[in-house]
Formats: sequence, C-alpha cells, structure tokens
Amino acid sequence: MLSTSLKNEITAFAAGLLLALLVSFLVGWPVLGTIVYLIGYVMWLLMRLSKMVKWLNTGARPAKAPPTNWLTNDMVELIHREKKYSRKQKNRYRSTLAQFNSLAADLPDATVVLDESFEIRWSNSAALRFLGIHPERDRGQRIDNLVRLPDFHDFLHGKSSDEELEIPMPNTAERTLSIRKVPTGKHMTVLIAADITQRVQVREMRKAFVGDVSHELRTPLTVIRGYLEMLREAESPVKPEVLSQALKQISQQSDRMNGIVEDLLTLSKLEGNPLAEGEGELIDVDNMIRSMVTTLRDTAGSHTFVLDLDSSLMMTGLRTELYSAFNNLLTNAVNYTEPGTTIKISWHLEEDGRAVYKTLDNGPGIEARHLARLSERFYRVDEGRSRDDGGTGLGLAIVKHSAQRHGGQLDIISTPGTGSEFKITFPASRVEQVKSAVNH
Ligand code: ADP
Repeated sequence: MLSTSLKNEITAFAAGLLLALLVSFLVGWPVLGTIVYLIGYVMWLLMRLSKMVKWLNTGARPAKAPPTNWLTNDMVELIHREKKYSRKQKNRYRSTLAQFNSLAADLPDATVVLDESFEIRWSNSAALRFLGIHPERDRGQRIDNLVRLPDFHDFLHGKSSDEELEIPMPNTAERTLSIRKVPTGKHMTVLIAADITQRVQVREMRKAFVGDVSHELRTPLTVIRGYLEMLREAESPVKPEVLSQALKQISQQSDRMNGIVEDLLTLSKLEGNPLAEGEGELIDVDNMIRSMVTTLRDTAGSHTFVLDLDSSLMMTGLRTELYSAFNNLLTNAVNYTEPGTTIKISWHLEEDGRAVYKTLDNGPGIEARHLARLSERFYRVDEGRSRDDGGTGLGLAIVKHSAQRHGGQLDIISTPGTGSEFKITFPASRVEQVKSAVNH
C-alpha cells in the first residue's frame, strides 16, 4: 500500500511530466523538454535528500528539519517518531540507572565492585564509612593497598577457606565488620562488608554471662566439695560439732546455688518481655510495703524504718514481680547499711501523674563509677561482702527488668559516706488514686 505522501508525490510528478510534455510539444522539442524535466526532477530530489542527510548528520533536531516534499515528508516523520521513542527509552534507562545507583549507594552494607586484579570499579557511601574507600578518589586503586590487613589480604586472594571474614573496622577498631566475597560477571567480585558490632557484642555478652554463671556456681560448689571430701577422708569418726558445721556450710552453699538458679530463671522470664497495657491486677502498694517492712522488722531487727506512703495510690501490675522488686531494694538497704541506721521508704504521686517507689538509706553509699553498672547481672561493688551476705548479684537486675516490664525505670542516686537512693518510677497509665488516704 502506498502512503498518501507517496501517492501525492507520484501524482505531482505525473502532472509535472504532462505539463512538461505539453509545453515541449508546443515549442517543438518534445524529447528534449521531457529530458530536461526528468533531469530537473531528479536533481531537485537529490538536493532534498542531501539536505536530509546533512540534517541527520547534525543530530536530526526537529526544529532544524529541512523543507520536505511529499516523498521525504514520510521519512522526516518516521525519523521524528523514532527519535522521540529512543529519547523516551533513554530517559527510562537513565532513571532506572539513577534509581539503581542511589539504591546501591544507600545500601546499609559497604559494597565494593572489584575487577580481576582487585582494582576498585565502584563503591557506595557505606564503603567510605566502613572501609574508608572513597567512591571517586579511590576508583582504580587496588583494594588491598587501601585495607592493609594480612587477614583481609589472605581472604581476598582466596588463601583462607572461610566464607566470611571478621575484621576490626579500619579507623574505629571498637567496631567489627563482617566481609563476604561474591563472584559476579566475568572475573568481577563484589565485596560486601556489614557492621556486625552489635552481633559481636551479644556474642561476647553471652560468653561473659556463661563465664559469670559458671564462676558464681563454682564458688559454692567448691566449698561443698571441700566439706564432702573432708568428711569422706576423715580417718577417725568425725566429731559431732565438726559434722554439724560441715552440714551447715553445705546447706548454706546449696541454698546459695539454688538462689542463683532461681534468680536467673526469674531474670530470663522478665528480660525483653514487657507487659501488655493494663496487664496485671490493681495492687494496694501501701499495704504490700507495710507487710514487707513488718517481716523485715521481725527478721532483721535493728534498723529504723520511716514510711511515707500514699495509701490512696494504687497501681496495676503483677503482684509477685512488684513485691520482689520493692523487697529487693528494701533488703539491699538493710544488707548494705549498718544496723541501727534509718531507712526511709516512700510511695507517692509525682506532679506529672507518675508514681514513685523510693528507698533512701544513710549507709556507706556507692561511688559514682559503679552506678551505671550496678544493675548488670553479677555486678557487685564489694565482691566479698555481697557474697558473704548471701547476695546473688542479680537483685538489681531483677528490679530493673521488673520495673521495665511495667513501663517503669530504675534510677540510683548515691553519695559515698552519705547514703543511697533507689527509685522506681511507674508511668501514669498504671497508676490510680482509688481510695481516700487512710492513716495507719
Ligand atoms: P546483691 O545480690 O549482691 O545484693 P544487687 O544486684 O542487689 O546484688 O546489688 C548489686 C550491688 O549494689 C551490691 O553488691 C552492692 O554492692 C550494691 N548495693 C545495692 N544496694 C546498695 C545500698 N543500698 N547501699 C550500698 N550498696 C548497695
């Protein structure tokens, strides 16, 4: 099928030919006239075509399109359409590439593309942060000239069989990187380095924790074994008072081991496990504290307890956990202060609607450098003293996690020589002022 332009062109050509024939007949040179017309037509066509070629060579910009006839009109149209389409395609590719570049650049892990001689072809911004590799300045550099660690060199050159390499982050040795090598394309390698500091810390903490637990359990175990061996190897019958002393020690030490295990189980239930909103029962805290103090007065004796409790203030929570948290602070205040000193206990509402449970003693106090670590598992200010008093070193960790489970927080303020204040603040959402104050 001929296009309209082509049909028009043929019609125009035929009309022109007829006119040329007519004129050349009239003047008496029909052949010459026709030849002149044909040559003229071909030359005119060639001129149009040469203009088009020139236009194409100079970028085929639509604004500069040459004057067309019906024949070249179609071509120019087609070229315009093709150009428009390829421009659109180019823009699409360009935006996809830009998206990919920004995505790769923003990847949280350092990504470095290397060629077969480990020269850097491309790297993202995390590579600058983690490995100090600059995306532009270091392009073309060998990566092992920039990251100069023997382990890294061996890993890069395949001398180690590990799939993953852990190295300290260059410039910031307290952070750790994990590096993986991913072969890609022809002789290309992508290095991916992730910051695994947190993972390493958790691993170290777990290791330290197992070490601590073993150490804590081994101490009473050693005492028990010592007494058992003594009894077994005794040549003459053991005197009743020696036997009774040994059994007392064995019983005390096994109680201690039991205490550690119980506290560990409690902690594992509490940790990272917050209560749902409103979970628990409404607790008369004033009552709970008074019964705690009565028991302590009966057993510990010689401290003076001063109570400042808002009896109308109740809170929603788990009774056993709150009892254990409040009691831990109270028994610590008793255990770590001299007999005869005063311990103040208060339970009151803050202006912002939060409730505060506080124990205040006038004991030896705690040096500032210990305060931040006090609620860590097994952290003690005075190792010997705490153990002698039967402390597991887990009390404050339990208090902290019980408080956190109830949306609260533990704060410790202490001045050596003056005393210590342990304070748990509970959120307003768990607090209710339900009954009018009662005088006890
Ligand atoms: P422990 O089982 O050893 O009592 P805690 O976690 O309850 O463990 O307490 C950690 C450490 O904090 C204790 O070993 C003690 O050194 C210190 N401590 C706790 N309460 C007081 C206090 N009221 N006064 C002084 N030191 C305290």
